[in-house]
Amino acid sequence: TSRAPLRPLEAPGRTADGTPVSLLANVGSGGNATFAARANAEGIGLFRTEFCFLDRAVEPSVSDQVQAYSEVLGAFPGAHVVVRTLDAGSDKPMAFLPMPEEPNPALGVRGYRTSRTHQPMLERQLDAIVTASTASGTDGWVMAPMISTAAEAHDFAALARSRGVTTVGVMIETPSAALQAADILSEVDFVSIGTNDLTQYCMGVDRQAVGLGDLQDPWQPGVLRLLKIIGDAGRASGKPVGVCGEAAADPTLAPVLIGLGVSSLSMSPRSLQSVAEALSEVTVEQCRAAADAAVAATTASGARDAVRAALA
Ligand code: PEP
Ligand code: MG
Repeated sequence: TSRAPLRPLEAPGRTADGTPVSLLANVGSGGNATFAARANAEGIGLFRTEFCFLDRAVEPSVSDQVQAYSEVLGAFPGAHVVVRTLDAGSDKPMAFLPMPEEPNPALGVRGYRTSRTHQPMLERQLDAIVTASTASGTDGWVMAPMISTAAEAHDFAALARSRGVTTVGVMIETPSAALQAADILSEVDFVSIGTNDLTQYCMGVDRQAVGLGDLQDPWQPGVLRLLKIIGDAGRASGKPVGVCGEAAADPTLAPVLIGLGVSSLSMSPRSLQSVAEALSEVTVEQCRAAADAAVAATTASGARDAVRAALA
């Protein structure tokens, strides 16, 4: 496939008035992490660990896992690296973690929910992540996908800390978690917003559906208003809020996310420089005005137009 040449990040992310914004990469393998390092990503905001093992029929051993995670952590020595525990199920079925037949897998046993029946598998993964962090000298932050309640965040944090994880977070990708962001933030050290799933569940539209692109849009007012609730909770807690869904790579939406209170954006390494350029042209004050304009809009296209006007 022909692709435009990589434009590496030229400098760490900053707004025009100098507020830092961590520009991080989404990766799923050591090879991806090497590429992200070539792109000058400041770190990794989402390591999709399930991508290392999609083809496995049996659970990878702890030592296989340590090796896979060390390749990613080792590509970013001392940097900010966020490792996500297995997000199996739904659009990422895994042969070694068989699921019951479900009529609606996106609403079924996926992500953190698999630990209801397979908690030892999660414990082994946490052990492997901690071992790989120690071995590589990169203290990985660890987060769980598909959290719906503050109780799940509490239980995951307790388990992860008991296995030696120092910085624990969860993804916010269900409307329930977004609405309870303040409660969840009191249980964990950070959160990361998965806008792909948050949009899916907020809009009630399958992320893989075709012909519904207008609804699969993080600019939809319902999604933007959930993002505001999360951003406000993040500010009030003083804890970091990141975005690691596709929305983070949208150069027009990035200033809105910063204005809402997000402090890191994680994306495909190819998008880093264009997002950096967009942020370098706007002040935090303008980001806040853009966020207010976006949240006040009543349509997705109205939000885009209002933000363009606020940033002009
Ligand atoms: C998301 O849902 O936005 C996300 C980053 O996770 P994934 O795309 O892996 O489900
Ligand atoms: Mg997701």
